Amino acid sequence: MPVELDKKDLAKYPFLKEAQKLVGESGYSIDSLIGKKSFIVKKGAERVEKAIKFDYNFDDVRLDMAEWEILSYAFARILISCLSERNLIGRLCRYESERASFFLQAEVPDKKNYIASVVGLNPDENRIPVIDYIGLCTALHDSKWRLINRDVGSGFVKIDKSEYDELIKERIRTMLEDQLPLKVGEEICVMLKSLTDELSAGYQEMLLEQFGEVDEDSFPPCMKAIINAVTEGTNIPHTARFSLTAFMHVIGMDSTQIVEVYTRAPDFDVEKTMYQVEHISGSGGTEYTPPSCPTMKTYGLCVNRDSYCKNISHPLSYYRARKKALKNSPAYNEEKPQSSQNKEENS
Ligand code: SF4
Repeated sequence: MPVELDKKDLAKYPFLKEAQKLVGESGYSIDSLIGKKSFIVKKGAERVEKAIKFDYNFDDVRLDMAEWEILSYAFARILISCLSERNLIGRLCRYESERASFFLQAEVPDKKNYIASVVGLNPDENRIPVIDYIGLCTALHDSKWRLINRDVGSGFVKIDKSEYDELIKERIRTMLEDQLPLKVGEEICVMLKSLTDELSAGYQEMLLEQFGEVDEDSFPPCMKAIINAVTEGTNIPHTARFSLTAFMHVIGMDSTQIVEVYTRAPDFDVEKTMYQVEHISGSGGTEYTPPSCPTMKTYGLCVNRDSYCKNISHPLSYYRARKKALKNSPAYNEEKPQSSQNKEENS
């Protein structure tokens, strides 16, 4: 029986062809919206900004304004295509897949199955052909997805129903990534230049903030806990190692600095660690990002939460917020002259 999707559903899943049709019928024109510098275009820019900052808080989504949501999705894709930077495209696709997954978690089964079917999955099946499985799970880092850890037989990999959420999210991400960049006419990119310039400047600023001096004091409690576990020689799970490594990579630590953290482990193995670090840092072509707070929670890695954790949804947001706060605190600034004095003394 065909699934009835209402406007709210289309606002939740703007990549559906039904959503595009709704906008097509609504009389909005991309050119005139750009020309008027409409708030919908700005909403598209906000979407990109949130994606760049790994801000996966979806409380402000207006399900009652489906056309706005769908058009802002379209503009986000246009803007990112004008920027045409692979890292930014990756961030937008991850943001959109997290957004869809956020709504899918509370979705009724027939609608969830419909979205899954759009991306070529069927949650009622308890197996996937091996060939499809390999393509689907390449970028999934949890060791449970490794073929060696799966129940494989007669050319199929067994899948538990509970595992489908993650697979659907990943399939949405790769599907969106395959569609970008869009072929956007130069005249449209010129019209959007002030916004793309702002987004690009915001991205550079964020990189500088993150890539400035690495400040371990600003690490979120979850990452500090993993480092403590490494230091104490605890055998940490793959998810913890992945999360910490990806976190350190994104905040701008190079492979040598990351490996240095692992040297604190009593059973440190340089070759194995270097291989894992290089892989997670993108030597295979995929740049990995650390998991969001909800995912850290499902891994059992969200521990020792403090007051900064209240308003953030990603460990990177925690790091940025705390680093900024520490930098602005009087205690930090009092230390500054002292450290430059030390430098002079040492030179
Ligand atoms: S809320 Fe987020 S940043 Fe804070 S401990 Fe949990 S996972 Fe880490």
